[in-house]
Amino acid sequence: MTVTPHTAWCGRGHHCGLDEHRSKPTTWATPYGAVVATLTQHTQARTAYLELRIRVRIACNETPARRQAADIATDVDGAIRRITRRYTLRQVTQ
Ligand SMILES: [Zn+2]
Repeated sequence: MTVTPHTAWCGRGHHCGLDEHRSKPTTWATPYGAVVATLTQHTQARTAYLELRIRVRIACNETPARRQAADIATDVDGAIRRITRRYTLRQVTQ
């Protein structure tokens, strides 16, 4: 078993543990709520991940809230797919 040393962005201390390096979370206040981002990397792998927690103000009534939740999840998924595809294509062409 090979354990990778702390990454440059690892928050160390209580942020790092349970077999993964974790950055200190970064929080952005937004007009709709907040976004909290944390970088993670398994201690035995080189692949890093971005964890996002997004707080979005939505309707109080169930039906419109469910519709908004589905629309938000669909658009977030689409944005991530577009960005990761573009990044992968750029990496291949450089
Ligand atoms: Zn670490």
